Amino acid sequence: MARVYNFSAGPAVLPEQVLREAAAEMLDYRGSGMSVMEMSHRSKTYQGILDEAEADLRGLIGIPDNYRVLFLQGGASQQFAMIPMNLMKNRVADYIVTGQWAKKAWQEAAKYGTANKIASSEDQTYSYIPDCSDLPVSENADYVYICENNTIYGTKFKTLPNTKGKPLVADVSSCFLSEPVDITKYALMYGGVQKNIGPAGVVIVIIREDLITEDVLPGTPTMLQYKIHADAGSLYNTPPAYGIYICGKVFKWLKDLGGLSAIQKMNEEKAAVLYDFLDESSLFKGTVRRQDRSLMNVPFITGSDELDAKFVMEAKEHGLENLKGHRSVGGMRASIYNAMPMEGVRSLVEFMKKFEMENK
Ligand SMILES: *Cc1c(COP(=O)(O)O)cnc(C)c1O
Repeated sequence: MARVYNFSAGPAVLPEQVLREAAAEMLDYRGSGMSVMEMSHRSKTYQGILDEAEADLRGLIGIPDNYRVLFLQGGASQQFAMIPMNLMKNRVADYIVTGQWAKKAWQEAAKYGTANKIASSEDQTYSYIPDCSDLPVSENADYVYICENNTIYGTKFKTLPNTKGKPLVADVSSCFLSEPVDITKYALMYGGVQKNIGPAGVVIVIIREDLITEDVLPGTPTMLQYKIHADAGSLYNTPPAYGIYICGKVFKWLKDLGGLSAIQKMNEEKAAVLYDFLDESSLFKGTVRRQDRSLMNVPFITGSDELDAKFVMEAKEHGLENLKGHRSVGGMRASIYNAMPMEGVRSLVEFMKKFEMENK
């Protein structure tokens, strides 16, 4: 067996220990005689898995009792519609567009009401986070929306926008559990788990209780109502049961590492190794404004499409995979999520140094 260093933006690397545990429990989950994949989601054993996952997630983030945790399906993209359908009481929402995911969310919301783009960084290919300290937040906005970490462009909000008292809704798909967060600053936080937490198929929504109401837009499907899922404890219908089980293992792995402060420190150390090299390299350069750099997704270029392609190909031969940048921006992107070990980042930088020497 040869594992590579997988820099994919998502689905992405998972902790090896989690994969090993899942493998060991594959045929017989703790004496049940069956795999978690084969288990009724209404069984006591599965309820235990779900409850423990939620409790561990609550513990990691420090989620107070007035927030609900929902394990849903449909990916992050389904939330682009579910959020306006459930929260647009006045049919007005403000969007800060810092990348393609935020743009898609904004475009989707426009189907349901007035979606105002109150800030954007599109003018410079989303390579920075705009100043959000004094935006023209709409008087009757139901919420202000951000994509907190822009997976494709490698930018991250280091300070949350001033929403002028309006509820903040955040897509945290690619920075979920990468550092401590004060959940009370958010009305709703959500993320697809396939970036930093688990296998594709699960999306986690953390939502303040007072936002969960029956007062949704007319025609909202039952399956797209937060209240339905909250009232049923994420078991309205069959949940993505196996995916949630893996998420639960990742939560335990994070707890054992020391929680979110500990993983933040590791993430900062890993990112520094790569950014420090990019800052001194004569061949490679980062594409993001320094103060807005993500700890999770690191885009970089050589300046030559040909050299970029050569780099990606030769890196793969060295067991460094999925370094090609998003198809919309080109160049390279190293996603260095929680589960990417420091050795992976060091190997990448060593290889970049070698490549630089050979291609100067
Ligand atoms: C990947 C990603 C999405 C889309 O996720 P799906 O689960 O494929 O719908 C949305 N937002 C962000 C920030 C992402 O990184």
